[in-house]
Amino acid sequence: MTSGAAPIAVIGGGLAGLTAALDLAEAGSRVALIERRPFVGGKAYSFDDPNHHIQLDNGQHITMRCCTAFQALLERLGCADIVRYQDALSVAVIDPESAGRQVSVLARAEVGWLGRLGPRLLPAPLHLAPSLTMYDHLSTVEKARLALALEPIRRMSESDRRALDRQSFADFLLAHQQTPRVIERFWDLIVLPTCNDRSADVSAAQAIQVFQEGFSRESAAADIGNFVRGLGEVAETALARLRERGGEVHLNAAASALTVEGKSVTALRFGRDQELEVSGVVVALPPKQAMTLIPAGWRRREPFWRLGQFEVSPIVNVHMRWDRPVMQRDFVAVLDDDAQFIFNRSKLHGWSDEHWISVSLSGAHELAALPQPEIAARVERAVRRALRRTQDAALLASRVIKESEATFRPKPGMASHRLRARTSIANLFLAGAWTATGWPATMESAVRSGHAAAAAVLEQEHSHA
Ligand SMILES: Cc1cc2nc3c(=O)[nH]c(=O)nc-3n(C[C@H](O)[C@H](O)[C@H](O)COP(=O)(O)OP(=O)(O)OC[C@H]3O[C@@H](n4cnc5c(N)ncnc54)[C@H](O)[C@@H]3O)c2cc1C
Repeated sequence: MTSGAAPIAVIGGGLAGLTAALDLAEAGSRVALIERRPFVGGKAYSFDDPNHHIQLDNGQHITMRCCTAFQALLERLGCADIVRYQDALSVAVIDPESAGRQVSVLARAEVGWLGRLGPRLLPAPLHLAPSLTMYDHLSTVEKARLALALEPIRRMSESDRRALDRQSFADFLLAHQQTPRVIERFWDLIVLPTCNDRSADVSAAQAIQVFQEGFSRESAAADIGNFVRGLGEVAETALARLRERGGEVHLNAAASALTVEGKSVTALRFGRDQELEVSGVVVALPPKQAMTLIPAGWRRREPFWRLGQFEVSPIVNVHMRWDRPVMQRDFVAVLDDDAQFIFNRSKLHGWSDEHWISVSLSGAHELAALPQPEIAARVERAVRRALRRTQDAALLASRVIKESEATFRPKPGMASHRLRARTSIANLFLAGAWTATGWPATMESAVRSGHAAAAAVLEQEHSHA
C-alpha cells in the first residue's frame, strides 16, 4: 500500500493489535491504531500506585521459554531483559495443610519440587522424572500413575489431539487412571494458570497442547520467565516504535461503528464522532467487543455468529505490602484456592525497602464475585497459612484487582469457534488471544494472532496489486 492510500485501521492496542500494527507499519503500510483507553497494553498493563510511589501490574504475568513469538517481540523491541528465565524449571509447591499437621518436617513436607534439574541430560518428558519422584504432595502410587497420562500425551499426534476438543481434560485424565486428587494436586497446578480454568472445564485438546508445548518436546520449554520490571513497558515500547515508523495513534478513542459497503469495510467511526476512511481494518478486540462493531446484517452469518459463543474467565490479583520480607523465593505455588501463586514482587523488581508480594488467582469465578474487602481478607488468611514468615508480620496495604474478563473460557468445543484472521468481509481481519492460534489466551497467543492478521492483510494487498 502506498503512503497516500487510506490507512489500515487496527482497533485495539493490546499485544495483538500492537503486533499487527507494527508488522504492517514495518512492511510500509499506512496504519492507524485506535485504542479506547488513554494507554496501550490491554490485559497486560502497569500503573503507578500513588500511595506508595511504585509501579504495579494489573496482573502478575509470567512467560515460558516455549512462548517464542512473545520472546521474539521483546527482542525486536529491545526489551528482552525485562524477563528473567529460570536456568531450569523449578516450582516450589506449598501444601499449607501438611505444614500445619506436621511441624517437624516443615522443610521437607512443606515444599515439594516440580521439575528441579540441573544439567538437562534427559530428553523431554523424562527430564521431569527425577523431580516428580521427589514431589512430596503425591503418594508413590499416585506419582506412578502420572506416566499413564503423560506418555499418551507425549505421543499424541496433532490430529488425535484436535479430535479431543469436545471432551474435558478431566474426563481424559480420569480415563487415563488419574484420580481427582492427582488432578487437583498435579494437573491443575499447570492447567489453571495456563488455561485460566480447571481441568473439568477445559477442553482436553487445549490442555494437551499446553503439556505438549511445555513439557513433552524441549526440556527447556517450560522454564518460567518472570518480569523484573513493569510489564506495561512492552506495550509502551511497541507504541513508541509504531510512532517512529509513521503509525497514526488515537488513544482515548473507542471505535464505535464500521461502514461496510458490499463486502468491504470503507470507514470507521471512533472517538467523538470522528470518521476515518479505511482501506481495511484489523479488529484486535475480545470477542464480545468485536461483535459490537460487526454491522447488524452480518452478525448472524459465518463466521461472525461464533463471536457470541465465547464466555469469559476471571483472574484476581491481590498486591500486598508487608512490614518485612515474607518470602525468599521469586514465586511459589500453593495448594490452596485462595493463594494459588504468590510472587515476590520486591525481589523480582529489586526493591529493597518495600516488601510487596502479588497473589495471582486464575479461574477465580467464586472469588471474583465477592466484594474487594472480602477478597483481601480471604487471600490474606491463605497467604498467612502458606508463608510461615507472615506469622509476626503486619500487612500494611493490599490492593485487589479483578479482571472479570481476563480470558475466554477454553471449554470443551471452543476450538471450532476460534476464528482465523480472514473473515467473510474481504478487508476485515481479526486478531486477539482468543483467535485460532491453538494456544490458550496468553500473551503468546495475542502476539501470534497479531502476526497472522498482518500477514493476511499483506497477502491480500499483494494479491490485489
Ligand atoms: C490478570 C491477568 C493475568 C494474566 N496472566 C498471564 C500470564 O501470566 N501469561 C500470559 O501469557 N498471559 C496472561 N494473561 C493473558 C494475556 O494478558 C492476554 O491474553 C493478552 O494480553 C490479550 O491481548 P489481546 O491484545 O488479545 O487483547 P486485550 O489485551 O484485551 O486488548 C484489547 C484492547 O482493545 C481495547 N478496546 C476494547 N474495546 C475497544 C474499542 N471499541 N475501540 C478501541 N479499543 C478498544 C482495550 O482497551 C484493549 O487495550 C493474563 C491476563 C490477565 C487479565
